[in-house]
Amino acid sequence: MQKYTAIILSSNDVGEYDRIYILYTKEIGVVKAMGRGVRKQTAKLAGHLEPGTLSEVYVARSRGMGQITSAIALDNFENIKNNFEKLFEVLKILKFFTLHFSEEEKDEKVFELLEEFLSAFAKASADKEKILLESFWWKLFDALGNRPETMKCAKCEARLEEKGEKYFSACRGGIVCGKCFSGEQDLAKISSDQIKLLRIFLANPLEKILKVKAREMELKGLGRIRREFERYNF
Ligand SMILES: [Zn+2]
Repeated sequence: MQKYTAIILSSNDVGEYDRIYILYTKEIGVVKAMGRGVRKQTAKLAGHLEPGTLSEVYVARSRGMGQITSAIALDNFENIKNNFEKLFEVLKILKFFTLHFSEEEKDEKVFELLEEFLSAFAKASADKEKILLESFWWKLFDALGNRPETMKCAKCEARLEEKGEKYFSACRGGIVCGKCFSGEQDLAKISSDQIKLLRIFLANPLEKILKVKAREMELKGLGRIRREFERYNF
């Protein structure tokens, strides 16, 4: 029997009473496991295995898919599940994990980032949600080996100066200086406040980022740039 600390990513009903779960574990990354009988009315297991829950999960493995023998929720993140907007954003994150992570590829740093994010996001007041969310995504890309270039031009490699217009190029993987932008495709204009935010996101833990003040408009624009960056890289 294996014991995992896991964040439940998703579940799929199979057969009459069963469910297949996808777990993101601290120990070995993504694990698929069967929950037998979890949909029976008397079963108590399902409540500890809801997507977006941090749980201790015991899996018996022989050949093929492991079977969940027991699970204890460590944190339900109730404040996320009771809040439609928060839940909507978290489900997008969980989906990203199920789509882009292979089974048994351990990454403790990514696990800790997700755990830390869920815990902070559950507690966050409405005015802090957006900065947390935005910074989480950029930190996730960075942890997965896609760190956007924010210090020098992603094309000519000259140090970015304080003044002048700048652009973000998803395909070049970072900021492009005012001299390089002509002829480039799919550029998004990026403000100096947005560049500052990006640098703060990449250099600081979430708890510090929570203290940063950012205007909603800047975060919104950064969100558009981030979705383009995600489309290009993942
Ligand atoms: Zn340049």
